[in-house]
Amino acid sequence: MLPDGRPVRAFTLRNDQLTMQVIEYGAIITSLSTPDRQGRSGDVVLGHDSLDGYLEHSPYFGAVVGRFANRIARGRFALDGVTYQLARNDGENHLHGGVRGFDKRLWRGEVLTEDAQPAVAFRYVSEDGEEGYPGRLDVVVSYVLASSGELRVRYRARTDKPTILNLTQHSYFNLTAGTTDVLGHVLTMNASRFTPVDAGLIPTGVLRDVSGTSFDFRSPTPIGARIDARDEQLALAGGYDHNFVIDRADDHTLALAARVHEPTSGRTLEVRTTQPGVQLYSGNFLDGSITGKGGRRYAHRTGFCLETQHFPDSPNEPAFPSVVLRPGEEYDEETVFTFGAT
Ligand code: BGC
Repeated sequence: MLPDGRPVRAFTLRNDQLTMQVIEYGAIITSLSTPDRQGRSGDVVLGHDSLDGYLEHSPYFGAVVGRFANRIARGRFALDGVTYQLARNDGENHLHGGVRGFDKRLWRGEVLTEDAQPAVAFRYVSEDGEEGYPGRLDVVVSYVLASSGELRVRYRARTDKPTILNLTQHSYFNLTAGTTDVLGHVLTMNASRFTPVDAGLIPTGVLRDVSGTSFDFRSPTPIGARIDARDEQLALAGGYDHNFVIDRADDHTLALAARVHEPTSGRTLEVRTTQPGVQLYSGNFLDGSITGKGGRRYAHRTGFCLETQHFPDSPNEPAFPSVVLRPGEEYDEETVFTFGAT
């Protein structure tokens, strides 16, 4: 129950490979259990045992982030000649939808029974002007456990005024199902370019070639292999906290974003998406101050995120793919997380 008395329901979805719990607050994935190579099930996402944990101390663990995932410079953008000022909740910039973004809202969950697969849809109506964004936005995010090992996340939205929108899923993964750091996870990214940032983690506007840099994950490389290398970009972010430009056709099909293999457990994760970018965040801001599930402290880099998205600060970068949504259009994006073990 929320402090104002509104109940928060939880749903459990299960198929032959995965068991997932989700709650109506933030449409948060609170647990996701997958088998290791011996068939032993383990929870591979960071989070809390109770709602209070999420209310008190959660850097977007498992939540749907909106209206705008990641940063907007100085919280300001112009659309159709009107300038909008959003909250500056990350230094001088806007982060993850503002002071009370979608991760801190109560969604309404509904089990989708017409679907042969375990599925739940969360709906949230964001009023015109909420957190400074224009337009009344009707958003539906569905989670479907599809054929063995697949979690499909579909985002749909409509607006009654021109607005901007960029939704993502902010699960922190640790495929060991424990709390060792994630530096040994072997990552492959389908990205030849990334968007370098300034000191406020705002993209400079350049799409930089990853060749010869610590950002080249085109062949399998442990996350930790170069994370402490001397590199201006790694120094600015304290590790990886960057948007990668997915090598994909300019269409709206599912394309590979990343693959991860965790050698001790054998667990694997593959991420495909209709979106143009993916934020690799190596949990640099985790510092042991948060105690999560089972009383475990989440130390530095004990979780990583692969947040599929449009590029940060897109509203101020005309050359980046557009994030504008107009009345009559449907926002429709999908990301598929496939879990396995080898
Ligand atoms: C951002 C990080 C931020 C983290 C948690 C990520 O999406 O890129 O800079 O610290 O979310 O807030």
